[in-house]
Amino acid sequence: MLFQRPRHSTIRHFPIWLFAAALPMVTLADTNDSSVLVAQLAEDENVEDVVRSEPRRSPGEDGDASDDEQEPSAPATDQQTQTVNTVVVPVTRKIAPNIDLKEVAPLPEPEPEPETLPGAELSAEELQVVQDTAQGETSAPEDEADAPVEPLPAESFTLLGKEVLPGTSTRLAWSPQIQIAGLSQITPVLVVNGVNAGPTLCLTGAVHGDELNGIEIIRRTMYDLNPEKLSGRVIGVPIVNLTGFQQGSRYLPDRRDLNRFFPGRKDGNLADRVAYSLFENVIRHCDMLVDIHTGSLKRTNLPQLRADMNNPDVAEFTRGFDRMAVVHSSGSPGMLRTAAVQAGIRAVTMEAGESLRIQEHQIEAGVNSLNSLLEKHGMISRMFVWGDPEPVYYDSTWVRAEHGGILFSEINLGANVSEGEVLGYVADPITNEQHPIRSTSNGRIIGMAVDQVVMAGFAAYHIGTEAEVPGE
Ligand SMILES: [Zn+2]
Repeated sequence: MLFQRPRHSTIRHFPIWLFAAALPMVTLADTNDSSVLVAQLAEDENVEDVVRSEPRRSPGEDGDASDDEQEPSAPATDQQTQTVNTVVVPVTRKIAPNIDLKEVAPLPEPEPEPETLPGAELSAEELQVVQDTAQGETSAPEDEADAPVEPLPAESFTLLGKEVLPGTSTRLAWSPQIQIAGLSQITPVLVVNGVNAGPTLCLTGAVHGDELNGIEIIRRTMYDLNPEKLSGRVIGVPIVNLTGFQQGSRYLPDRRDLNRFFPGRKDGNLADRVAYSLFENVIRHCDMLVDIHTGSLKRTNLPQLRADMNNPDVAEFTRGFDRMAVVHSSGSPGMLRTAAVQAGIRAVTMEAGESLRIQEHQIEAGVNSLNSLLEKHGMISRMFVWGDPEPVYYDSTWVRAEHGGILFSEINLGANVSEGEVLGYVADPITNEQHPIRSTSNGRIIGMAVDQVVMAGFAAYHIGTEAEVPGE
């Protein structure tokens, strides 16, 4: 078996080159745009998402599939169709090297370069691989009629200007090209292209640069994959907001929240451009997307999915994630998952824990549910499958502090609470007044603030009330 990764690895195992590449950042702070900053700091958009969310329609109400923004689900198969029927001309293709993801490999090359002479930079090895593949492709039967048992062999596909052959792993480079060209650093994109055909699952982490659990969830998930046993592809961008990550910041260099600008605009502001580049170059190649986040602004979340349960495709997608809690949230405009769903990609946000921390329990829960998802879609087969566990669905509300002061919680994340129960209290450090915060409903604490100074109106406890399984 190839499962060699250390169980208790932490952020210090991250490749050193990530940090070595941390040249002094050019801060492009747009001081004229303070309204954006204030609005974003004043309220956690995770809270806002849920508060503004459309109510989940009960199964009876959504009988017809007349969903507003339903588009035919055609998740960007242009690349695939391109490669299917074209005559293979090996020397003109730029083949991504097959690397063992478990070993420290050299940096991926920066952005795709201008055309070079055919074959000029392909090593003998690579040429051999190309020729082998070409032969393999010509001898493979073109009709995909029957053969229900035999898995179909995968095809190579092209991402970020590189062709990734079936049964290989590689590390590609994405650059949103917002920096000074000479100082530009690339963002690594990990790709495992399975030997057999199947769907493309994309995993994104650290869209908010201070959210670390997702980075680790992606690392563990991807480094456990064996391309020779995988059906389909997994594309991982562990650190989308690389500049934010290097500065321990949630935001982009211009203080904007990247997760408000998808799918982005080519000629828009900085966040628009980063979003556009990621969306066009990577996200459109996905059939399924899990965008991994944590609570923000000193709040922590029980491992959970945020999903638009009014969308039947998304609702069905949530069933693959083992027993993970699923919280309905219709999603705000500009969120990566919202934009992806509108582009015909099944997408959810996964929340796990709090920012700026590496939390073993939360990471394990995330990795387990992603493995469950891979298995559910026939991409991997696990030795042990414990039945077919269903997720638990929640509607949710936030309970806010009514007074400013210091918040002390009396309950823990994940606790079951009943209406009227004291969840915590806010102590006024000057007057010594104690203001209890009580639960507004029966349910489970699926997210909560850590003890801290709060102002009146601060969303302190996120209470999930179990909802019916959608569509039944
Ligand atoms: Zn986030």
